Amino acid sequence: MQRVYNFSAGPSMLPLPVLEKAAADLVCYGDSGMSVMEMSHRSPAFEAIITEAEALLRQVMSIPDNYKVLFLQGGASTQFAAVPLNLMVNRKADYILSGQFSTKAYKEAQKYGDVAVAASSKEDNFSFVPATDRSSFRPDADYVHICFNNTIYGTKYPYIPDTGDIPLVADMSSCIISEPVDVSRFGLIYAGAQKNMAPAGLTVVIVREDLIGNARPETPAMLDYKLMADNGSMYNTPPCWPIYMAKLVYEWILSIGGLEEMKKRNEKKAALLYDYLDGQDYYKAPVRKESRSMMNVTFVTGDADLDKKFASEAAAEGLKNLKGHRSVGGMRASIYNAMPYEGVEKLVAFMKEFAARNPK
Ligand SMILES: *Cc1c(COP(=O)(O)O)cnc(C)c1O
Repeated sequence: MQRVYNFSAGPSMLPLPVLEKAAADLVCYGDSGMSVMEMSHRSPAFEAIITEAEALLRQVMSIPDNYKVLFLQGGASTQFAAVPLNLMVNRKADYILSGQFSTKAYKEAQKYGDVAVAASSKEDNFSFVPATDRSSFRPDADYVHICFNNTIYGTKYPYIPDTGDIPLVADMSSCIISEPVDVSRFGLIYAGAQKNMAPAGLTVVIVREDLIGNARPETPAMLDYKLMADNGSMYNTPPCWPIYMAKLVYEWILSIGGLEEMKKRNEKKAALLYDYLDGQDYYKAPVRKESRSMMNVTFVTGDADLDKKFASEAAAEGLKNLKGHRSVGGMRASIYNAMPYEGVEKLVAFMKEFAARNPK
């Protein structure tokens, strides 16, 4: 069977060269005589894989030396609890609500201390990322939490919010390694890997060293960043296979020219889709222009039946998983790193043809 263009929000497409490399090494990795899936995580072969994966991610993202890189489990959702447990030293944190995931993170944090909403775009159905300045935050907050790219609504911060001396914590699950970011502007970055980095099962945490080591006593060992950092992410069995796959993805990004080139490709894909959306009136893009995501593009016809027809007919053409999130409706095209330009070209061609065939 032929591979389709998979617009799923996650798990999502992986680069074809990565899948092919993984397939070639699937049964026998190097001279180990076994699959990476069968290896002890304490074996020299796997030790080399995880060490290399970390070194490559540091190179890809230009992560400063005073940051720890952790390969964890539990998904981004587990970080909703791990962040307050580790960072809420004074039991105070401020959250910006820009969508469902940041709201979930906020609700989880409320279990652990005094948590305030610094800004929210809920009233406008999260169609933009709310603006803030330093005065939006409590000076004694332990951190400010944001979701950098809102997967469900298709919005993203076009800048890094200024929080002064308060550490900024960002959920980057759906935009990590899509473009260069200045890691030094953040206290902590976390991401579930299954959107843009690897298969499901891996969560990456990048955290400034001075922010760890103060976890509250009741913190489960598995959520204690210090314990994980001291053990090289191998306090227990790490998600070995997704770490190996992430390493292949980092190698692929470096092979094409790193995040500068990745950004160019992603911008080109997003521009093709947004330019088309802006030049017609059959489909509407519900989010504000200045908050548009480069990774998740949402659009609607304005007619729920037509939206449904669109998603099912597109799927029949090999353009899969375009149905919007159940809470938003309409369509969502997730065009992560691994989505080729041709996939977006095919999508735009289909959109034109569908509009011509289904007058409103
Ligand atoms: C998908 C997603 C999550 C949830 O990730 P899990 O790994 O399933 O827990 C959280 N935040 C954002 C921004 C996401 O896109």
